[in-house]
Amino acid sequence: MANIENQNRCGQCTLCCYLLPVRSLNKPANQLCKHCVLKKGCLIYKDRPKACAGFRCAYHQMEKVSIKLRPDHCKMIFEKVNDNIFFGTQDHRFEMTEIAKQQIKNFGNQGYSVIINTNGINKIYLKKGDNAQDVKNEFNNFLIEKYGRTHI
Ligand code: SF4
Ligand code: SF4
Repeated sequence: MANIENQNRCGQCTLCCYLLPVRSLNKPANQLCKHCVLKKGCLIYKDRPKACAGFRCAYHQMEKVSIKLRPDHCKMIFEKVNDNIFFGTQDHRFEMTEIAKQQIKNFGNQGYSVIINTNGINKIYLKKGDNAQDVKNEFNNFLIEKYGRTHI
């Protein structure tokens, strides 16, 4: 998540600090965290909760990636669930962008099923050969570990 001190790779993106819930802060989804300065970053970066420190934003981790895929531009935060699944949280205030649609296809071509959450509703883009129930189960395990529940 964004570091207000050195801006790191997030640049002006602070979307995760708005879209995603943080249990230990009682921060719900779709509400800017009280520690976030919009477009600048986290005021408590060094002491941010474990959930924030452990968040693996795909854009943040990709070596060579277009800035168009930065979540505040593509309106979607992608996160790797495991070697089989990517998870995308869409900024529900916007229509799904073309670049986000393209990235869902790219993940499919790379051998991943993709689950997209739009304001609490999940849609699965199943890759060939995957079983929907198995993907749901794997995804639910990820959510329980991360958020303590099977929905965000
Ligand atoms: S969504 Fe990703 S790029 Fe944007 S602030 Fe969070 S970690 Fe950084
Ligand atoms: S504590 Fe910091 S990193 Fe975590 S959601 Fe709030 S502003 Fe973002």
